[in-house]
Amino acid sequence: MENKQKIVLTGDRPTGKLHLGHFVGSIQNRVKLQGKVDKSFYMVADIQALTSNADNPTKVRENVLEVVLDNLACGLDPNKTTMFIQSEIPEIAELTVLFLNLVTLARLKRNPTVKDEMKDKGYGEDVPAGFLMHPVSQAADILFCHSNIVPVGEDQKPMIEQTNEIVDDFNRFYGETFSHVKHLVGDTPRLIGIDGNSKMGKSLNNAIYLSDSYEEISKKVMNMYTDPNHIHVNDPGKVEGNVVFTYLDIFDPNKEEITELKKQYKKGGLGDVVIKKRLIEVLEKLVAPIRTKREELAKDKDAVMKILEKGTMHAREIAKETMKQVRMRVQIDYF
Ligand code: ATP
Ligand code: MG
Repeated sequence: MENKQKIVLTGDRPTGKLHLGHFVGSIQNRVKLQGKVDKSFYMVADIQALTSNADNPTKVRENVLEVVLDNLACGLDPNKTTMFIQSEIPEIAELTVLFLNLVTLARLKRNPTVKDEMKDKGYGEDVPAGFLMHPVSQAADILFCHSNIVPVGEDQKPMIEQTNEIVDDFNRFYGETFSHVKHLVGDTPRLIGIDGNSKMGKSLNNAIYLSDSYEEISKKVMNMYTDPNHIHVNDPGKVEGNVVFTYLDIFDPNKEEITELKKQYKKGGLGDVVIKKRLIEVLEKLVAPIRTKREELAKDKDAVMKILEKGTMHAREIAKETMKQVRMRVQIDYF
């Protein structure tokens, strides 16, 4: 089924404050697209967060406000984007149950994102069933509002592939209902962690947060991994795999100067402290306005909750409509 409208949906798991990886991977696109497409949705994925935090509901509850504050501070506009809470839309859970019949256990275990995250979390065979099937609930998150554009980091691409398989099976079994979904990755599809890990993640303890103070940013950058063989200023240094240069490449707007600095570093004669100090200033320039706006917004938490309440009511109406159609298609519309 061809959906002519452009409908965007994105979201965050409320498992911690948001970081630079979110900013370059997804938030920049969220902000850019809102108002330019037909509809935009932003979801706080609290049910998904619980799939790996069942024993810590307080953590999830507390971080709902944090992730919303981060997004608002980056420019997400509730007048252009419907902002809502996943658990308040029971239709998503209903849709998940129906989608689960279209997916095999083997396919879920093969999903590269699930595999990576299971490894990060050290699960093995003792993975919570809810966690293993979260790609299916993610398909329901996307499809309940007939979204077809999903701005995400590269780590989420396999999720979109699996969503499209669900779309195909659903349409084949029950008639044309949903349309295919496209992922949209940001300029930096996957930002590495400050420890050099392949992904900055809020559950990985390797992030620079959008709410970090100047002091916190400085401390983290000063501890960054450079080139272990670059001991004296005059030693030739390696730029590849050097976290500081990787970040400068992404965040420093002056590309010419960075090319020059890299040359110097490779030759020898440029100290780590010089490039680190430069990176601190570059990151501070990006984070400072976000931090200030966030502090301002955090003064009125009730107002933020009101935004979520209003958005949730709107999303619920859409979800009810979709479920009416779905129930009809699956022939479970009895009375
Ligand atoms: P968790 O560790 O709890 O999974 P997370 O840091 O991976 O947290 P999510 O809430 O899972 O954050 O991700 C929200 C969005 O941000 C997703 O679209 C994800 O792809 C994107 N994202 C997260 N980390 C990065 C990163 N390091 N680089 C690019 N995009 C990222
Ligand atoms: Mg994640």
